[in-house]
Parts: sequence; structure tokens; C-alpha cells
Amino acid sequence: MSDTHVPDETEVVIVGAGPGGYVAAIRAGQLGLDVTLVEKEAYGGTCLNFGCIPSKALISAADAAHEAATGGNRGIHADPDIDLAETVDWKDDVVDRLTGGVEQLCERAGATLVEGRAEFADESTVAVHTDEGDHELSFDHAVVATGSRAVELPDFPFDEDTILDSRQALALEEAPESLVIVGAGYIGMELATAYAKAGADVTVVEMLDEILPGYGAAASELVRERATDLGVDFHFGERAADWRDRDGGITLVTEDEGGEKAEYDAEKVLVAIGREPVIDTVTLDALGIEPTDDGFIETDGRGRTERENVFAIGDVAGEPMLAHKAMREGEVVAEVIAGEPAALDYQAVPAVVFTDPEIATVGMTEDEAADAGYDVITGEMPLRASGRALTLDTDEGFVRVVADADEGYLLGAQLVAPEASELVAEFGLALELGATVEDIAATIHTHPTLSEAAKEAAANAHDHAIHTRND
Ligand code: FAD
Repeated sequence: MSDTHVPDETEVVIVGAGPGGYVAAIRAGQLGLDVTLVEKEAYGGTCLNFGCIPSKALISAADAAHEAATGGNRGIHADPDIDLAETVDWKDDVVDRLTGGVEQLCERAGATLVEGRAEFADESTVAVHTDEGDHELSFDHAVVATGSRAVELPDFPFDEDTILDSRQALALEEAPESLVIVGAGYIGMELATAYAKAGADVTVVEMLDEILPGYGAAASELVRERATDLGVDFHFGERAADWRDRDGGITLVTEDEGGEKAEYDAEKVLVAIGREPVIDTVTLDALGIEPTDDGFIETDGRGRTERENVFAIGDVAGEPMLAHKAMREGEVVAEVIAGEPAALDYQAVPAVVFTDPEIATVGMTEDEAADAGYDVITGEMPLRASGRALTLDTDEGFVRVVADADEGYLLGAQLVAPEASELVAEFGLALELGATVEDIAATIHTHPTLSEAAKEAAANAHDHAIHTRND
């Protein structure tokens, strides 16, 4: 973080330099607007510093070690040892390269970067608190991009030692011998998988009766079974009720619906029960903006709040709390402020879980499409029929398409596969372009790749797949 000089006025002030805010700043600068980006902690926000990038770095390191350790089928015999302190150093280098890049891109686009906390004074003034004092900055337009933070369980304060949030769990310099994770959403499951592969004894406690609600039973079941094979111990229908210190760690006490208690000893507990929007750092009252009951800032289809000159983007503006959704909102609000005819369209926002195997979804599921009134057809390709999957020593997973029976338009796709995070992009583009399943089925896909499963699943929607047609 570099600059604390605060100008007196700016056309656009952006509060928060996460994926939403920094992208808005770059786009606004490209469009010739005079823009000031205020960040109180770290350029790149949660995603680059404490979320997406650190978690994917840890997952990739744990995957590499696990793959080497379990390569027996392929004639590989190794006993790798992960030095987590070195992994964290490498991860920090990756983060530094990216956050440095963000800073440079913002500066190159002409944005003024200010290190400080911004707090609205009224609808055209923001107070910026920096190390060098407090400054008033007047603006024509404001973009609130203050992001989100981990939800704390009552009586389970994060202490950076035994009760951790995901940010603290991603900074550990040694894999804990044992780790209890409260919450089996995507963050809990990604870290459960990574730490299990890094050698920790992982227990997951979840109030519901399955992991990853919202991703579909078939996907959740596959990932749960795989995690169980990795040694993760699941306890469903239990909520974290209490804890006490123990020599060398902590004892977590859970309670089920009937009041029955259970206890789990661990070195550390990670609480991953969800994230909440950050609105308490900016004084929304001064703008006359009332947050929703869930604490989000409501916006219209162009990112505008109830106040004409104030926009909100990213996690603070509502679900899905994902970096790529924040980035797109950042681009759109910059264009809207510059007077361009831009608008938001959420029909193809992919969501990915970087577990083993990965899960990816985009568009509608079969049930959602039926609820929306479509006469639905589906097509599926199991990965056990994929030559590429077998050469990767896996046969678990599937690619599934959902389409409209009348015209064949693609409505959505769900994938459980290695690199599902990459494969889903094809379906996102197909949705954006209004492609039919026949378009996808008639596209020549490279052989041998996992992407052939897209073609095969699409062909199966009309029952003419070559390799996996169900007779
Ligand atoms: P943030 O990135 O949270 O940035 C907000 C910024 O605003 C922060 O830097 C904060 O310091 C600053 N700020 C707040 N108040 C003020 C103020 N008053 N003045 C100045 N600055 C202020 N998403 C994905 O799409 N893919 C993933 O793989 C993924 N993995 C994740 C893994 C983890 C462990 C976590 C925690 C999150 C993950 N996410 C992922 C979610 C992703 O990080 C968020 O969706 C994304 O960061 C939201 O961007 P944002 O710009 O809205 O806010």
C-alpha cells in the first residue's frame, strides 16, 4: 500500500479495493473519469489476500503432495512431506505479485490510490482517515465496495490461535494435527479437503444433513464420499454449542436437535458458517441508505442504490458473494457512471467449489428450470467413460446439461470433475450466446480432453451421444 495523499475532490470515490472496487477503479479510469480508490487494509481485498488466491494456493500444494503420495497406480512411489511454512511463503509471494499488479493497473488507469478508511459524511462528502490525519473528500459519485467478513459464532470469538476464521486458517505455518471445521459450505469443504491432504486429522460438524447445500445431491454425495476416503470425519445434524480449553488445543461441544451433546478434541477449530456484508465501516446513515434485513445494500440492475449518485458492488451488494460477480459489477457501475448503456445480467454466474473433485455450476438446475416453467430435457456424461479422466487416474464425476425441450436452448450445467472450474466456462459462454445443446454437440472438442464430456452430455440431451448413449 503506497499513498496517503487525499485529493479535495473527485468525480468518483470508490470505497474498498477488493475485486469489485479495484476493477471499478480501472474501468472508470479507462473511461476518462477522475477516480479515487480508498482502501484501509490491502489492495485486492479479501479475494487476493485472504480468500480465493491463498486458498487455491494451499489446495494446489496439498494436491501436489497428495498426488505424489497416491501415485501407486501410475507407478509413482513417493513419500512427500509438506513444509507448510514454505508453502505459506510461496503463497505470500503469489499474493504480493498479484496485489502489486493490481496497484500498478489502477495507477496506469489514472486512479488515485489512497490508503485509509473512508466514512461517508453526507451524500457528497467522505471523510478519509489516514495515518497522517483525517481529510474531507467531496465526490460526484460513490461506489461502496466494502466486501464481507466471516460470521462469528456467538461465544466463539476468533482468537488467531485455537478458534480460527478462514483467513487465520490460511496463514497457519504448520498443519494442525487435528482440526474441527464447523460448517460444510464451500469454504469449510475446500479447507477440509486441503488440510486432510496436508496430513491433518479433519472432523467436519454441520447442522444440516449434507455438505454443500445448493449444489445438488449428486455432487454433494460424491464430494462427501471422496472426502471421507481422505479421512474426513463428518457429523451431521449437530451445532457448535460450547467449547473449553484443553492441554494442546480445544474441546468443541456440539448439540443435536434433541439436545444430545457430543465432544470433539482438536488442536484448532475453524468456524466457517458463512460471511456477512461489511457495512459498519462506512456510515451508511449519512447517505440515508437503509440496509436490508440481512445487512446488504440493495441495488437496481445497474448497481445503483436508492441514492442516485451512490452505487454498491460485490459482496456488500448481495449474493452470490463471489469475486467474478464483484468484478463484473465493478465494470458495469463504472460504465454506468460514465454514461454508457451498461446493465447487469446474472443468468450465467458460475459457482465453483475447489474440492476433490471440483464442483461447478452455471445457470439453472433441472428443478430451477422446471420451476421457471420450462419443459426440461437433460443430458449427462459420466466421467468413467472419459478417456482423459482415466489417464488422470480418476473415473468419478459427471457433466450434466439442462436444456429447454422445445428449442434445445441450454439453460444450465452442473459438473463434478477435475478442473470443473475451467470446464464450466464453456457453458457460461454458451448461455451468454444463447446456444442450443445441438450447437455444443456439433462443436468439435479436442481429444482426449475432459471437455469432450460437454459435447457428449449435450448430445445425450437429444439421445444421440456416441460413447454414452443410454439404450
Ligand atoms: P472484498 O474483497 O472483501 O474487499 C473489500 C475491501 O474493502 C477490503 O479490502 C476492505 O479492507 C475494504 N474496506 C472495507 N471498508 C472500508 C472502508 N470504510 N474504507 C476503506 N476500505 C474499506 N470467490 C470466488 O469467486 N472464488 C473463490 O475461489 C473464492 N474463494 C474464497 C475463499 C475464501 C477463504 C474466502 C473467505 C472467500 C472466497 N471467495 C471466493 C469470495 C471472494 O473473496 C469475495 O466474493 C470477494 O473478495 C468480494 O469482493 P469485494 O470487492 O466485494 O470485497
